[in-house]
Amino acid sequence: MSLLSAIAAMTFIVMFPVLLASRRAGIAGIGSFCAACLLSALSSAAGLATGIAPLWVGVLLSALLSIAAGLMILNGFRQFLRRRSLAPWSVVATLAGAAAVLVFFAHVVENPVAGAAAGTGLAGVIHLLTAATIIRHWRRERAIAPYILFSCLAAVALGLLSGLQAVVTSSGLGSPGAGEPQVLTSVVLAARILTTPLFLLGIVLMLHGRIIANLQHIIAHDDLTGALSRPAFLARFKQCLAVAAATDQPTAFMMLDLDRFKQINEQHGHAGGDAALVLFADTVRKTLAGRGILGRLGGEEFGIVLAGTGRLEAAGIADAICAAVRSTRTDTASAIALTVSIGVAIGEPGAAPLEIMARADMALYEAKAMGRDRPSMAGSLHPASFASSRALAGVAAQMRASAAPPDTTAILSGVA
Ligand code: GH3
Ligand code: MG
Ligand code: MG
Repeated sequence: MSLLSAIAAMTFIVMFPVLLASRRAGIAGIGSFCAACLLSALSSAAGLATGIAPLWVGVLLSALLSIAAGLMILNGFRQFLRRRSLAPWSVVATLAGAAAVLVFFAHVVENPVAGAAAGTGLAGVIHLLTAATIIRHWRRERAIAPYILFSCLAAVALGLLSGLQAVVTSSGLGSPGAGEPQVLTSVVLAARILTTPLFLLGIVLMLHGRIIANLQHIIAHDDLTGALSRPAFLARFKQCLAVAAATDQPTAFMMLDLDRFKQINEQHGHAGGDAALVLFADTVRKTLAGRGILGRLGGEEFGIVLAGTGRLEAAGIADAICAAVRSTRTDTASAIALTVSIGVAIGEPGAAPLEIMARADMALYEAKAMGRDRPSMAGSLHPASFASSRALAGVAAQMRASAAPPDTTAILSGVA
């Protein structure tokens, strides 16, 4: 058993610097997991001293350190899963209570093995509490679900093995010379010794999974507006088109460009322009209400992909976005007003992304040419439709000239 304890201690010692290095990532809970790793290493080392050092080191101190490690793991998971940390007094009270029980068994009842069994049982309860915490609060960590599942299973296994070991030991089944039960105790103890490093390994993998997921999120998003970055947006667009081709569905693509944004920057400064960009993205997201994918293509140009959306629906959504942006104001001192022009193109199943984007871009220029603050639908690839789109653009320009604001939904749906 001492060989297994030595292997466990070595594993903790190897994992400790890995955990310590991960602290720089600023993920909640790493400090507690570091402490748990150190305490586990010390507990294994104390266990190794059984027979050499006094009994209280090998049995009592080892058990107490293992309880402290369990508490740190529980605390680490609470912090990692955005729950309140354990109150320091509750940690101190649990450790003091455990120490009192261990000392009571060792010196009053003079049965340190029973005391250690009680300590192991308490550690088991703490591991089961950890598993319960993970099961209740893991949902916001779906991106790293496999690592969370592994950690949860390890916590359950450790809790059950600790409980089993406590029962077997305290019921005397494991006393030397009892035959078969001695084998059972050894097997349970060996499984418990080996499961603890596995649990810590699961935690290390989980933390690294979170670091990678955080980095992927940073790379895939524009930090100012929270919209997808251009490469991530294009990748999602391609995915949508692949699904659309397989399911024979149309895909709507919108290219949005804020109107006269240079003027906004000139009048309100770059910070004002930034506030306007943030407000714009928030307004679009609210209007989309979870329907589409918003990406920042560059500067004050954005893209929207709407899977399974045809012309009529896309025209309505584009109109709603223009209206929402038009009626909003930044909450800065100068309450900046915005308008946006939108080029809309519908990709039929099998269409290439660049071709759809080029048509949306052309429609955007049309919207700008027609006076801005409006959507414009790209004509289909058929020359006749394209011509009618141009003709409608001309009609809209005439309507604008005659003062009445154009009903863009009608114009766009007319092109369908
Ligand atoms: P138009 O209506 O024709 O689109 O006119 P515009 O002024 O918007 O023209 P243009 O697209 O050329 O100008 C875009 C401006 O957006 C220029 C650039 O300084 C500004 N811009 C690009 N990115 C940012 C940003 O992140 N923050 C701020 N504040 N301004 C930006
Ligand atoms: Mg632009
Ligand atoms: Mg612009």
